[in-house]
Amino acid sequence: MRSKTRLIRGGIPEDPTTGAVSVPIYQVSTYRQEAVGKHKGYEYSRTGNPTRRALEELMKDLEGGVAGFAFSSGMAAITAVIMLLNAGDHVILTDDVYGGTFRVVTKVLQRFGISATFVDTTDVRNIEAAIQPNTKALYLETPTNPLLKVSDIAACAQCAKSRGLLVIVDNTFMSPYWQSPIELGADIVVHSATKYLGGHSDVVAGIAVVNSPELAESLHFIQNSTGAVLGPQDSWLLIRGIRTLGVRMEAAERTARRIADFLVEHPRVQRVYYPGLPSHPGHDIASKQARGFGAMISFDVGSLEKADEVLANVKYFTLAESLGAVESLISVPARMTHASIPKERRDELGITDGLIRISVGLEDAEDLLEDLAAALK
Ligand SMILES: *Cc1c(COP(=O)(O)O)cnc(C)c1O
Repeated sequence: MRSKTRLIRGGIPEDPTTGAVSVPIYQVSTYRQEAVGKHKGYEYSRTGNPTRRALEELMKDLEGGVAGFAFSSGMAAITAVIMLLNAGDHVILTDDVYGGTFRVVTKVLQRFGISATFVDTTDVRNIEAAIQPNTKALYLETPTNPLLKVSDIAACAQCAKSRGLLVIVDNTFMSPYWQSPIELGADIVVHSATKYLGGHSDVVAGIAVVNSPELAESLHFIQNSTGAVLGPQDSWLLIRGIRTLGVRMEAAERTARRIADFLVEHPRVQRVYYPGLPSHPGHDIASKQARGFGAMISFDVGSLEKADEVLANVKYFTLAESLGAVESLISVPARMTHASIPKERRDELGITDGLIRISVGLEDAEDLLEDLAAALK
């Protein structure tokens, strides 16, 4: 089965009992037992629900893993995965991980005795140098937000595996349509399904897919114990979104490439960050490890004032956080998603006041190009 077919036919594509061509929303909390412990595979919906199961099986197939788990948000999925570690363990993470990941690791999980080091994972040597006797996991995010830095998943995984570390990859920006971390050596893939998987800015959800029965058992134990499961309505909406993931990713990327080329040539744009550009530092690795470059672009217009002018003048880009939806979104990371990072550190990283991030959606490419051209005048 090729990937676009798998999006439609993967997992549990229809309702086994009625033949309905989508697994219905099983809006139910509990299940009748014929005798104590004698049931049809479901006892209570925190432990398992047929609609959620259909989504989890689909995600397992899409990521090429052994089992999938659907959570109430990306952060719930990430937190549950890090809870596989014990007090006293150490984890190495990509230095510009999603802000929520940074926060939960440094402000919550550290209180429970899990320590962390953040390194630039675009260079494997930084990972090697950070490994301690108690290091148990490597957590990668690639490409990163908002500068689209690319880490070599296979090389990082190889380094981590040689030291017995668990390899976790946040695959939100690429989605399983463009990037398959498990094939490249990851043990666990996590997603904010709120973004490309859902694709319509109408669900908050998270996914984790693991590549071994042992990890599946451990993660199900944590999911069932801590309880941040995805409800049946949201599971159904996600399945519906995932069906069109392939056509959405391809269409958005086609437009993103045109926009990136346009921005590179534009005299008012000082710098463009897009892995599809040959000038991008991660271009070669991205070309090797992914099947596409995605539809996230950041560009620097030089100052806060100029960024504000662009924001005020675009018509077809909605000023909002989040990404990966049908509607194009625009944001200024320094004052929105990355506002909690001190300014000096932001400037060091390249997250300047003039940096604008766009998530290219599915509007007509000509409209988006004209819109940006007018706003940059
Ligand atoms: C949004 C996001 C998350 C967090 O997911 P939520 O669904 O908002 O909890 C994690 N990682 C990345 C890369 C994200 O973009």
